[in-house]
Amino acid sequence: MLVPSLQKLLAALRRLPGVGPKSAQRIGYHLLRATREEATELARAVVALKDRVGLCSVCGNVAERAEGVSDKTPLECPVCADPRRDSSRLLIVEEPYNVEAFQKTGVYDGLYHVLGGLFDPLAGVGAVELGLDALARRVSGGSFREVILATSPTTAGEATASYIHELLKPLGVTLTRIAVGLAPGADVDYADEISLRLALEGRREYGSIGR
Ligand SMILES: [Zn+2]
Repeated sequence: MLVPSLQKLLAALRRLPGVGPKSAQRIGYHLLRATREEATELARAVVALKDRVGLCSVCGNVAERAEGVSDKTPLECPVCADPRRDSSRLLIVEEPYNVEAFQKTGVYDGLYHVLGGLFDPLAGVGAVELGLDALARRVSGGSFREVILATSPTTAGEATASYIHELLKPLGVTLTRIAVGLAPGADVDYADEISLRLALEGRREYGSIGR
């Protein structure tokens, strides 16, 4: 029989993605043996994440509230806050960690738009849930010349890209799709930097011959 505090911790750990009962036990007992400083550092990092980190009000990327700034102030991510970014190009990705991956390629200096997922009819995720009307407003009100669709070449990724293409086509921007480097069905999430760079550099106009 576990003591209540340990039981509670293990239950919380088991709710984390990829953590089964065995891993929860390992982490729990590791924390039990850790110094108070180590454990406090982890606890503080989790609380700080929840208190200060949220999604950018412009692009949906991860953003952090500066010390002393009211929690009523809309968050702005480091990319949107950087005036040196090329505001004529917009790269559409699924998740905030995809922004990180494209940033690491070092070849893209435009802006991003994070969908926060892909079409998933079974889970009830569609245009409304992905905030695609906000995306259309952002593109029509911005100075973008090119919008790059960088969702994964999976069924859900292609369906989402196709919908966005139809949605943004009337706005007169050039719509491109990341291409080579990612095998069909491969996931943007797991692509390495070189594959992502090739996919980005090899992008073609959406729907062009050879896709
Ligand atoms: Zn942003």
